[in-house]
Parts: sequence; structure tokens; C-alpha cells
Amino acid sequence: MITRKVNRSRGNIHCLLARLLGLFLRGNLLVIGFDDWFLKRRRLETCTLIIPKEIEAKWQLAWEESGLYRAAETGDKPKFYCLDFFPYPSGEGLHVGHCRNYIPTDVISRFMRMQGYNVLHRWDGMRLVSRLNSMLWNTAFTPRRTTDQNTANFRRQMTLIGAGYDWSREIDSSRPEFYRWTQWFFTLLYRRGLAYRDTSWQWWCPTCQTTLSSHEVEGGVCWRGHPGVTKRKIPAWYFRITAYADALLAGLEEIDWPEKVKAMQRNWIGRSEGVEIRFPVVSSQLSVVSENQYHLPADTFPHLTVFTTRPDTIYGATFLALAPEHPLVESLTTLEQSSAVQAYTARAASLSEIDRMETHREKTGIFTGCYAINPVNQALLPVWVADYVLPAYGSGAVMGVPAHDQRDFEFARQFNLPVLVVITPQGADNTDALQEAYHGEGILINSAEFDGLPVKLPSSASPTPSKHAASAPARCFTACATG
Ligand SMILES: [Zn+2]
Repeated sequence: MITRKVNRSRGNIHCLLARLLGLFLRGNLLVIGFDDWFLKRRRLETCTLIIPKEIEAKWQLAWEESGLYRAAETGDKPKFYCLDFFPYPSGEGLHVGHCRNYIPTDVISRFMRMQGYNVLHRWDGMRLVSRLNSMLWNTAFTPRRTTDQNTANFRRQMTLIGAGYDWSREIDSSRPEFYRWTQWFFTLLYRRGLAYRDTSWQWWCPTCQTTLSSHEVEGGVCWRGHPGVTKRKIPAWYFRITAYADALLAGLEEIDWPEKVKAMQRNWIGRSEGVEIRFPVVSSQLSVVSENQYHLPADTFPHLTVFTTRPDTIYGATFLALAPEHPLVESLTTLEQSSAVQAYTARAASLSEIDRMETHREKTGIFTGCYAINPVNQALLPVWVADYVLPAYGSGAVMGVPAHDQRDFEFARQFNLPVLVVITPQGADNTDALQEAYHGEGILINSAEFDGLPVKLPSSASPTPSKHAASAPARCFTACATG
């Protein structure tokens, strides 16, 4: 520790403050410049001051020269690998908030090193977004140059805070020597059907000329402040991560993470068990509208595929609802409803998914003029477009069962659609008394030959299950129930 003696002045309040501050910070840090200010006053009591510029520079040099943080590849010490969450160097430098990420891993690494481990604490100099930055701010620099500059600055900043990295093992994934392997890996995934090209609706900023995630958009304005952000259908490459949903879920059981974090992971994986059901579609222009006239081969009509986790409630379906982004919205909409549906889908395109999933928000929707046929009882179901249905969930179409799904219930009440109870605890029809959707167990009613069958919920079911959960399901099995 470097100390410096300064003149005394008994009882000086500044010296007391300096001591208290030093005690509070456990002798690790004092505000840079504070020491000079004290020296100039020359009225202070003798006290120990820590000069960060001197003490930190001295020891960082010593660590560097002795190779303190170098991880040895051989030796008797047990190995410990500490991998940080990689930084996204979209800016020119790190900010203090980044330390919330890198200091805890630094502490863990130091602790393990002092416990006798051979620690590898590594850093990735990955650069990606600087291409966008150079385009945005019209800098004269090439992406390569800004990338290198930012990399150097990040390295300088991490050295400044004294992070204990093994810099000899820095990986820079913006270098061709590295990303040629990323490309090799991609082609491997492609050949195995795990990378595929598809189109989907994405937020698009016309100024940034790039896609944005939902949380980067608010009220049609991008996080950089550009107006005019809308949703566009954009082709992109995807990884078939759903193929690994089961393995990921099973792996969670084997790791020692807090249960809260595991739950977040499970929700992110978003595995839903259910079935896909095909509903034949009839246009309102067709004259065949009475019940029991639709025993036609499945291929005669176009159909809507619906994913549901509750096929046991299918007799209670009273409408179908499509996400505004559903690819069949335009072709299913009748001429009379066309302009109203167009206006509705345009409005929905400016809303974020978080807004759309908001449970307290009044339900909105528009009738397409088209009907579908319930394959189990040939009942005619009006097809609506509703923004509470998300395109990423299942097929982007749900069967509305108001008596047993709260969102469907609110939607049906909003638009005076029928509510039909098919599960009751008592085995009696209580449709008229229903104040909210019933999610519990009971006996099937109004379900033809299935009446009287008991309905049991899996023990892991949430108290208020919704078949419209935000994340995409891993499709476990598919049933085609076309009549
Ligand atoms: Zn923008």
C-alpha cells in the first residue's frame, strides 16, 4: 500500500472524512484527484491516503510481469474455467454498468485461484455491431478499423479496472481465422436440417436499416430515437432449437442453479404439449351453412391449423382467432370485411408483443367474414383476427374456448360471442353463471359421446393455464382431427 504523509491539523474534519471514506471503501479506492486536493490544503492531520493511480498501476504491472493470471496447461492444480458473458461492443467503450457483469466473475476467479486452482478466466473480443455504428454515424472508418479501435479501448478499460484475465487466450471472433469455423459449423447445421431459411414478422427501423427486438421499440420509435418503425416480413436464417427442447429441459435438472433461474430457462424453452387440429374453412359466400352438412373429404376445403394444449375442450370452441400476421388472413377475409381487417392488422403491427400480451388490456379484434367447421361436431365457428394471438405461438391460430380460457372469455364477452361450458366440477351446465373462465378439473359435459368423462389436470399445470403463452412450443406430437 502506498501511503503519503501530509501536514497535521488536529481535529480536521477533512482528514476524518478521508479516514471514514477509506474505511468504508476498505482501503481499495479513493476518488481520483481527492489526494491532490488534500495535499494542497496543507492543514491536514497525518493520515494514510491511497493514491489509486499509483497503487493500481504498480500492482497491475507486477501482475502482468509475473504472469499471475496465466492459466497453465499442465500442473497438479485442479482446473477451474470461468467464462464471462461476452460483451456486445456496440459502442466505443464499456460503461460502469458493465462492471456489474465482469466484477463478480473476477471475484470468483480470484477466490478460486487463492483456493489453489489453476484458473482460466477468459475474454472474447467479439465485435459485430460496429458495422452498424460506422454506417449510422457515417464515420470515415471501415468496420474493420472501428472494430479494432473499440477492441483496444475495451481491453484498456478492462485492464484499468484490474480484471484478472489471461489475455494470452483472448479470442477475437471478428477475425477470419476464428469465424471461418463459425461458418464451417453453420454449414454443418444446415446439412443436418438444423439451420433453415424462413420469413417472419420483424420490427424494422428504416433509418438504422436493421431489425430490432421487441424491447428496442416503443410507440413505433426505435431505441436510437428514429420514428417510423414497423413490422415487416423478412427472410432470415433460423436454428431449429426446438429439436433440443427435451434435452435442454432434462439438462436443467442436472445443474446447480437457483430454482428461479431454472424456471426462467424453462419458460424461455417454452415447451408446450398439445395437438394440432385442422379446421376446414368455408367462405361466407358458400350457401352451405346449416349444421351437419360438412362430411366432405378433408382436402375439399382449405383448412386452418390450430395448436392447442387443451384438445379436451374442443366441444366448447365457439370461434377461431388468428394472429394479425397469420399468412391466411388476407385470403380468408371476405370482400365486405376487407378494409376493416386491413385497418386492424395495420394498427396491430405498431404494437409490441408485450402490449398485446398485457392481461388487463381490453381485447380487440375484427371478424373476417369467414367461418370454419369444428371437425368434431361440424359447428360453424366465426374466424376472427385478434392481436392477443401471437404469430410465434403454435400456428398463430387458436380455437376460442371462452368457458375455459380467460383471454378467450374476455374476447367473447367483448364481442358477444357464445360461451359454452364443457367442463364443470358438478357435472351440471352452469354457463349462465360463469363470471370468468373455469380452469379446474371436473366432468365433461356438452361433449357428445365424451360426456361424463373425468378431466384431470397434470400436477405441473399452472393455476391459470393459457394456451396462448408467449413462447413458441416445441411440437411434441401432432394429431390431425379433420372430420
Ligand atoms: Zn433506428
